[in-house]
Amino acid sequence: IRRAISEARKNIAEIIGAEEDEIIFTSGGTEADNWALKSILFGENSRKRIITSTIEHHAILNTCSVLEKMGYEVIYLPVNRFGMVSTSDLENALDENVALVSIMYANNEIGTIQNIVELSAVTHRFGALFHTDAVQAIGHIGVDVKKEGIDLLSASAHKFNGPKGIGFIYIKAGAEIAPLITGGSQEFGKRAGTENVAGIVGMSVALKENFSGLKENMYFVSGLEETFLEIMQRSGLDFCINANANKIPGNISLSFFNVEGEVLLHRLDLRGIEIATGSACDSQNTRISHVIRAIGVPEEYAKGTVRISFGKDNTEEDVEIIAKELIRAVKGLMGGR
Ligand code: PLP
Repeated sequence: IRRAISEARKNIAEIIGAEEDEIIFTSGGTEADNWALKSILFGENSRKRIITSTIEHHAILNTCSVLEKMGYEVIYLPVNRFGMVSTSDLENALDENVALVSIMYANNEIGTIQNIVELSAVTHRFGALFHTDAVQAIGHIGVDVKKEGIDLLSASAHKFNGPKGIGFIYIKAGAEIAPLITGGSQEFGKRAGTENVAGIVGMSVALKENFSGLKENMYFVSGLEETFLEIMQRSGLDFCINANANKIPGNISLSFFNVEGEVLLHRLDLRGIEIATGSACDSQNTRISHVIRAIGVPEEYAKGTVRISFGKDNTEEDVEIIAKELIRAVKGLMGGR
């Protein structure tokens, strides 16, 4: 078992450009995100401020709310229409009171990839640590923690065809991060609890498999996406595309004018097509997600948002069927049927 865990750690470390003892297994992305942010509670640090963005996953946003209630300060950076954080906004918000900057690598609703190299560089100029929630990026695009100046990174296996309930955090050697979960001496004494061996090995195998075909998959999935968008654009329907070219391949967020995303989802479900609305209820209990709000999709389009994710097992034929059914569903709703 020790050998299996060690091989898994080595494999994962190599894939993201880390050293073995910089990879600590967690129960998933949520735990890794909690750990990165709550590390501010345990250190000797006199800095009491965190900077993040408005489009983070709730694993980050809700943890920030808890920290705010405990007296810490959190600055939420805005994003542009395509979900990009501006480096100069970050620079303006940074000072000697900021302990940690946490900006997600790629957004889970719209796929936008941030300029991590620039964001981490400016963070370091002010002596703060840079964390990225890379749950949506790892296994889909190449990530190199050293080259990109990342101090802390969260990842989750189920986002790259691995098992659920397992993930990891990368903690750069030398970064002083106290354990979130205390107890026994597993994981170099940094994360207590008996290891989820099957999960760890499964995660490593899944990441290796995804990584070995990464370039081909990215190319293939981008091709599917292109075909899909071409068909959608020829349809003459009124919709907006919620990202620009700098995004995770295969992750598409569209907002249709004057229809309900939820109804589209159900209509496609009846035809065996699984899409998402990308609109998990936000704190005001509306049907428009915090990400769609943050990027400023106009109200009459926002409620018609759907998220379509293509993967390596999809085919051109799937894409044509999905586009056809989606067009039919939108036209049906416009006609009141
Ligand atoms: N961060 C992002 C960007 C996600 O998409 C998710 C989704 O699962 C999480 C964090 C939470 O990860 P987990 O489900 O492994 O706890």
